Amino acid sequence: PDIVRALYKGYRTMPPQYFSNYESMKQDFKLEVPEYFNFAKDVMDQWTKIEKAGKRSPNPAFWWIDGNGEEVRWSFEELGSLSKKFANTLTEACALQRGDRVILILPRIPEWWLANLACLRTGTVLITGPTQLTQKDILYRLQSSRAKCIITDDVLAPAVDAIIPKCETLRSKLIVSQNSREGWGNLKEMMRHASDSHTCVKTKHNEPMAIYFTSGTSGSPKMTEHSQGSFGIGLSINGRFWLDLTPSDVMWNTSDTGWAKSAWSSVFSPWIQGACVFAHYLPRFEPTSIMQTLSKFPITVFCSAPTAYRMLIQNDMTSYNFKSLKHCVSAGEPMNPEVTEHWRNQTGLDIYEGYGQTETVLICGNFKGMKIKPGSMGKPTPMFDVKDNPSKTASTIRGHFYITGDKGYMDEDGYFWFVARLDDIILSSGYRIGPFEVESALIEHPAVMESAVVSSPDPIRGEVVKAFIVLNADYKSCDEEQLKKEIQEHVKKLTAPYKYPRKVEFIHELPKTVSGKIKRNELRKKEWGTI
Ligand code: ATP
Ligand code: MG
Repeated sequence: PDIVRALYKGYRTMPPQYFSNYESMKQDFKLEVPEYFNFAKDVMDQWTKIEKAGKRSPNPAFWWIDGNGEEVRWSFEELGSLSKKFANTLTEACALQRGDRVILILPRIPEWWLANLACLRTGTVLITGPTQLTQKDILYRLQSSRAKCIITDDVLAPAVDAIIPKCETLRSKLIVSQNSREGWGNLKEMMRHASDSHTCVKTKHNEPMAIYFTSGTSGSPKMTEHSQGSFGIGLSINGRFWLDLTPSDVMWNTSDTGWAKSAWSSVFSPWIQGACVFAHYLPRFEPTSIMQTLSKFPITVFCSAPTAYRMLIQNDMTSYNFKSLKHCVSAGEPMNPEVTEHWRNQTGLDIYEGYGQTETVLICGNFKGMKIKPGSMGKPTPMFDVKDNPSKTASTIRGHFYITGDKGYMDEDGYFWFVARLDDIILSSGYRIGPFEVESALIEHPAVMESAVVSSPDPIRGEVVKAFIVLNADYKSCDEEQLKKEIQEHVKKLTAPYKYPRKVEFIHELPKTVSGKIKRNELRKKEWGTI
């Protein structure tokens, strides 16, 4: 309890208005990192004690639905006991040792959360992967990580078996299934026989905890290692001030289990605050199911990617009543101001945008109590000193700064605005143009559902702005040439005219990463003939 109290001392109980006085908050902020830290022991087990003492609201710690009537509700105590059984399965039946790597590829099912906690308890290093991975992707991950154990389901087990001969480090395979499979341990069965008594390993705060793959927006996803303290301590700010969570909240984050974002918002940030993690087993993104779930369950905080919000606002939400919802956030890509406005009109709620990377925790955010400027990523969290860095560099560390590879600027009020990933910037006739600003102007045109803006070769200007546009259904049969001109004029009016797309192409859908991010580099390569 002392570590938890020391970690969150002060700002767990601070009122949300705290961030309205940003400067004094920055000055007061002090985060002490203890030498030893383990999230399972120092946070989860502490919430179990608080819960048992009757000092936490009667809110489940974990609430899962499958959408067809199946439901799981676990308290912190139940999460503790089940994850201890899982931990014993890893160390005893699978003979895994502290530091060994475990790959976890499961859809949104309760075992995914238990696996996260079991790895923390045993000091094994967790590597999550999205279920859309192909055989080749899994092989790449198994080989590059040298994992000793893989946990997956019936769907992906055959793909794993097909590549086994090429994975010499892999020793054990666990399957989450009703059936048994040759060569695989059946997790549910093994947990039934495992003891729920387990002593959590004593980890140093800087010992490896997990490896997350980046989204692969440009090139292959890259491995990013995080320490025991990194998310477990660093995300405490997200939980309280960006997500506005308390122990009586129910937080639903829709991101896929394969990415760091799910660790951020479906594991660490809510549980640090003692809040309930809500999960819906949704094999694919269906706006109607999302809206039904938001109105049926007492979800108070909702987090999704901009691409998901763009899909949601295509629907008429007025017939739904999101009665418990009080706070919405987005991250992963820039959020178009038009979408925020539309969402506010339909739900009465703002979208609090956050910015960060797989490599980091939240870097900038719009915090509760702060005035929101739509389109801005907000202000740096107290843990980071963020500066506008005008010159390009390939290196990620310069002086005391970590270079993110993103370009943005700070306005006179200290708010940060995203311009572009450095590799997405378009240089036309000596002007530097960020695609997001043009895309945000495009989406304000009623015909545009979404778009991606990239550079395209031009004999005179070197490169020009080209927009790939997905049209709204009502506009699909319009005269294309006429519509192109109309859209170009529209952009000229909304931004500096040199930014308007000289080339426009209508396409059926945009290339995206598994997590839904626009892959502009794929379109760019096509334009430049390098594919
Ligand atoms: P890869 O590194 O494999 O090319 P990626 O950079 O998309 O993929 P992530 O770590 O998932 O992988 O995403 C971090 C990036 O997402 C940031 O560097 C930034 O470009 C973008 N991003 C995240 N949040 C925001 C935001 N609020 N506004 C604008 N961009 C954002
Ligand atoms: Mg990146």
